[in-house]
Amino acid sequence: MAEQENIRKARHRMVQEQLIARNISEPRVLDAMGRVPRHLFVPLEFQRRAYSDGPLPIGHGQTISQPYIVGLMSQLLQLAGDEKVLEIGTGSGYQAAILGCLAKEVYSVEQYANLADGARKALTACQIENVRVFVGDGSLGLPEFAPFEAILLTAAAPEVPPALIRQLTEGGRLIAPVGGERGQMLKLVLKKKQRLVTRTLVPVAFVPLRGQHGWQDDEWR
Ligand code: SAH
Repeated sequence: MAEQENIRKARHRMVQEQLIARNISEPRVLDAMGRVPRHLFVPLEFQRRAYSDGPLPIGHGQTISQPYIVGLMSQLLQLAGDEKVLEIGTGSGYQAAILGCLAKEVYSVEQYANLADGARKALTACQIENVRVFVGDGSLGLPEFAPFEAILLTAAAPEVPPALIRQLTEGGRLIAPVGGERGQMLKLVLKKKQRLVTRTLVPVAFVPLRGQHGWQDDEWR
């Protein structure tokens, strides 16, 4: 079925006003976010707001990230198209879908089975076939499929999980929100000649990473 004109217009406006106007300039990122039907990744009751400038609830107290944040993190990964990428925190599957357009293969891990199911359905509906969604504790990564050229966390971690650093290739890039309820910073970690170079970028606000290397229930309520 052809997409409605108003949906296409809303997505075009999102790219212009929320991404380009705020210095997201990587053409492949703009192209991917201009094509992927974000409204298919949000619950029905929020579809009208799918292209608005903010996060939206997706159930289980989790959210689909603001489009600008998806654009920013996708751009920071500097993907060329031939990479194997790991995402922690599939949620709606929208960020995974964008990564699917930018890389060769995407592995994404989600703690809630029904969010993982919803994400798989949305990915299938938009014919994105190079994303695999797993249910489990993403703070441990996916050692059986490592190493990855790029790793993206979409939940806030107390520290960058050491298991994830180990699963990064030489020359690889990892992006993670690091911090707690009161404040987080987006960090970029580069693995160069077996050394780590960490850059602290901008303040962000993500839901908590859970699991072994995440926040425990009593630490973040
Ligand atoms: N990238 C998502 C954003 C989801 S919010 C999107 O585009 O919609 C973060 C997600 O991380 C939530 O779905 C949450 O359930 C998940 N999460 C938190 N801790 C996790 C863990 N240890 N392992 C796997 N998923 C986790």
